[in-house]
Amino acid sequence: MRPSTLLGDASRRLADAGVGSPRVDAELLLAHVLSVPRARLLTLDDVPDDVATRFGELLEQRADRVPLQHLTGRAPFRHLELAVGPGVFVPRPETEQLAGWTLERLSGMPAPLVVDLGSGSGALALSIAQEHPGARVVAVEHDPGAIEWTRHNAAARAAAGDPPVEVLAGDMTDPELLRALDGTVDVVVSNPPYVPDGARVPREVADHDPPLALWGGPDGLDVVRGLLGTAARLLKPGGGLGIEHADQQGSSLPALVRASGGWDDVADHVDLAGRPRFTTARRRCGRRVAG
Ligand code: GLN
Repeated sequence: MRPSTLLGDASRRLADAGVGSPRVDAELLLAHVLSVPRARLLTLDDVPDDVATRFGELLEQRADRVPLQHLTGRAPFRHLELAVGPGVFVPRPETEQLAGWTLERLSGMPAPLVVDLGSGSGALALSIAQEHPGARVVAVEHDPGAIEWTRHNAAARAAAGDPPVEVLAGDMTDPELLRALDGTVDVVVSNPPYVPDGARVPREVADHDPPLALWGGPDGLDVVRGLLGTAARLLKPGGGLGIEHADQQGSSLPALVRASGGWDDVADHVDLAGRPRFTTARRRCGRRVAG
């Protein structure tokens, strides 16, 4: 079958099903079934029948709003390609800048200590370890299903020669979490669950991302409230905090951080689409003046 016909039909099928980027998804699925890079499709003359059949099966699942990344089993994140599937939150491109902010904070530090709270696929932890060799990175994950993926990806990256990341089962709001590291961490970073309960999310998200990675209570900030205490305890004076948040939390999250006390340089940052995406702060240095 001619690839142009196949892809034309496929993108119409996905568009009719309400998929946001039908042509790209169709191309990526076909490239996946053929085990070739997407650019190779441009010079392809023919798609064998068995490939077309397999492609058709995956296309129907995508039309049923199974995430593209679950069908290919991979999600790109900065310089990584992470394994993903049922049970783990699919890393999003808008989180890449939070990793970038962290790496900027770490520049010039030969052996910084970084903690990623709610690591999921390991996207933040593993990209930071890869791009700042010398960092000690601890990835914390609470969800027993998700941590299988954190461990799998950490092992795969270590086997590929990246610096190892420590994976720890734990709850980011637990006052006992990583007690031994109190006051020693250079950067705490997190993409926590922050979607307000009841908010409308696409079917790919509602039906396939793990609930623990998404929902954050009535205003979406319940888990973040607990996470702030953990970060305050773990960070050394002057240490950095970076937390991703929802589009509507560009003022409420910075306000929450300011109100929790002991932070300087509280700032909010937009993503590449110009939407408020993450809040950063610096753990206050020095002693409080008495009197
Ligand atoms: N950004 C994610 C979404 O669009 C939510 C991520 C999260 O809660 N950490 O669904």
